[in-house]
Amino acid sequence: MLAAPMFAPESGLCVPDDVYEMRLGLCRSCPKLIDGHTCAVCGCIIPIVAKLKDRGCPAPGAPRWTRYTDAGA
Ligand code: SF4
Repeated sequence: MLAAPMFAPESGLCVPDDVYEMRLGLCRSCPKLIDGHTCAVCGCIIPIVAKLKDRGCPAPGAPRWTRYTDAGA
């Protein structure tokens, strides 16, 4: 899946690697993470959605990470 063209750096859709790793780390420490890859709040596969700039943590009220802009993660 991550080999798909939309996940290539030149697509412009993905966050930098350091932001991706930070997001994965935040999810790893979250009690809503199931089996190391699925978010119990949205049902998303985290190693995939954490790559995308337009996605953010869906936890109501206290998201652990937010939509990415050039100003930050
Ligand atoms: S996306 Fe948010 S709620 Fe879901 S596992 Fe990651 S940190 Fe937890």
